[in-house]
Amino acid sequence: MDLKFHIACQNCDLIHELQYLKKKEVAKCSRCKNDLYLKKDNFIDRTLCLSIAAIIIFIPANLFPILSMSAIGNTQANSLITGVIELFHGGNYFVSILVLMTSIVLPFISISTLLYAMISIKLDRPLPHVGYVFRFNEHIHNLVMLEVYMLGILVALTKLNSIAEVIIGLGLYCYILLLLLTIFSTLSYDNFVIWKRIEQWAR
Ligand SMILES: [Zn+2]
Repeated sequence: MDLKFHIACQNCDLIHELQYLKKKEVAKCSRCKNDLYLKKDNFIDRTLCLSIAAIIIFIPANLFPILSMSAIGNTQANSLITGVIELFHGGNYFVSILVLMTSIVLPFISISTLLYAMISIKLDRPLPHVGYVFRFNEHIHNLVMLEVYMLGILVALTKLNSIAEVIIGLGLYCYILLLLLTIFSTLSYDNFVIWKRIEQWAR
């Protein structure tokens, strides 16, 4: 294995040539002392499990009711999917597409592309186009802002609570779990090791 690689500081863009790090070693930028790279050990099984769990919980998070509201004798339960459909039928086309993309489509692509790359790493053989898939994952995960969406739901809940009786549904708990699993799976993997493996397969 080639033991040297180049990495740019995310803080000041200075390029460094690094040696392959040992366990729990951290590389720091020589100019601004920002962390350049932290080696993560035994991440393959951990990331694989987290992404499998995320893809499973994705289904109830989207299908089960996020909340039920009762006002003036009417009770209505809404899941993310039915919420998107209702927004669309109500003529809020832009908002419905935005919610669909940010809360359903992008998170799904992000989780499934990471899972695909991790299966390939675990099997230690290249699945078709794994390099493109993993690059796409790296681009997309900057766009996935589940936590922002979560905050929106919580703000809406507090506001709705003053005009109607709001019961939190199973979907919301699943969504919180999905949020945590997504964050932990993104934090758990070592993209240097993954890229190194993909590069070796491409040779
Ligand atoms: Zn720096």
